[in-house]
Amino acid sequence: MNEADALRAAALLERAGLQPVAHAREADFLLLNSCVVRQQAEDKILGRLRYVAELKRRRPEIRIALMGCLVGRNPAERASFAARFPFVDLFLPPSDLEPLYLFLQAQGCPPALTPAASDIPPLPDSRSGHAILAHLPVMLGCSQACTYCVIPYRRGGEHSRPAAEILADARAMASRGIREIILLGQIVDRYGLDRPGEIRLPELLRQVTSVPGIARVRFLTSHPLWFTDELIETMATVPGLCPYVELPVQAGSDAVLTAMRRGYTAADFETLIAKIRAAIPRVGLSTDMIVGFPGETEAQFEESMALMRRINPDMIRIAKYSPRPLTYSARHLPDNVSDAEKERRRVAMERQLRSMLTEKNAPLLGQTVEILVERVEKNGRRHGRTPDYKPVFIVGSAADPGDLIQVRITWAGPFSLIAQAR
Ligand code: SF4
Repeated sequence: MNEADALRAAALLERAGLQPVAHAREADFLLLNSCVVRQQAEDKILGRLRYVAELKRRRPEIRIALMGCLVGRNPAERASFAARFPFVDLFLPPSDLEPLYLFLQAQGCPPALTPAASDIPPLPDSRSGHAILAHLPVMLGCSQACTYCVIPYRRGGEHSRPAAEILADARAMASRGIREIILLGQIVDRYGLDRPGEIRLPELLRQVTSVPGIARVRFLTSHPLWFTDELIETMATVPGLCPYVELPVQAGSDAVLTAMRRGYTAADFETLIAKIRAAIPRVGLSTDMIVGFPGETEAQFEESMALMRRINPDMIRIAKYSPRPLTYSARHLPDNVSDAEKERRRVAMERQLRSMLTEKNAPLLGQTVEILVERVEKNGRRHGRTPDYKPVFIVGSAADPGDLIQVRITWAGPFSLIAQAR
């Protein structure tokens, strides 16, 4: 979501006549997008802010904007931010570009801009080579309030964007050469539930997939509670809708899941995964795990490890628990797993993941798969992904970014594949 917000901001700045530069120290205008989902991310943005404060001390004429979850959506907090970061000229809440638009107008930038974030179709980021893929936010915020999560406090409650706007964005992306669209929401499978009369995610996926020029569509992140049979059926039957789900489980112990207020048990999750795999045999599954949640015992951590062995996902994003301000867990649950123990659990899970993926990917050797070429590497290799989202480096291909090609896997590692063009 932050990446999508950053690309929208970049599109707005470029439309206002600004051009990207190679290094922050060369810029006249700097926009920092912030994430505070974990302490580590917050520490990183605070470090960057110290760096840009120094740049501004040397060149007082540069303008600095701070965007995202550190800023949040509560205007009452803004005064304290202004005092804490006096070198910042402009604060933008997550996904809200209106203050940037007004700021640029006040600076006399060309007015060929529209103020609503939804009116500014995200542009592909040609600098990072992702011109073939684009993220498209379909809903913003979250009203779920898992006990550890700061997102509802920083991004506000859930609201879906109108489908007509999303489809207009999708068509604009296709006209710019985008071939793959990734629909984004904190709980994307709840799309439309907060807008009476709106279509739901399965229908939205059908419509985005049928936009001419769009070869592939994905969606993330889903919540196990809202992943319906209709959604599974849609994934199984709509061509171009990739067989890939991002479905965070977060823990394998029912006691920990209850303390997290996730609303399901480990058995519920396993049942859902079995149902998805029965309908979509080659589906790729990515999940999230938190290790070291308050009170998580060694035995409960082992339940998470065992669940992962049973589920055998294609990727696990492993996070060490860190208490975030305002959340229920930070206020009421002592952070009583030591940092050293959290790290030990993270490393153990990562090691298990590596060995599971080594075994899981080995049978791919020699298989033919379809790749959407995303970019050409410096050494001439093409890079793309399988429909189930495994990254592949392709040798012997002259395909252009955006081409769909058949390749034969010649090497299968745990986290990437190498293939020969056919
Ligand atoms: S569903 Fe996701 S975004 Fe929403 S509160 Fe839970 S973890 Fe945070």
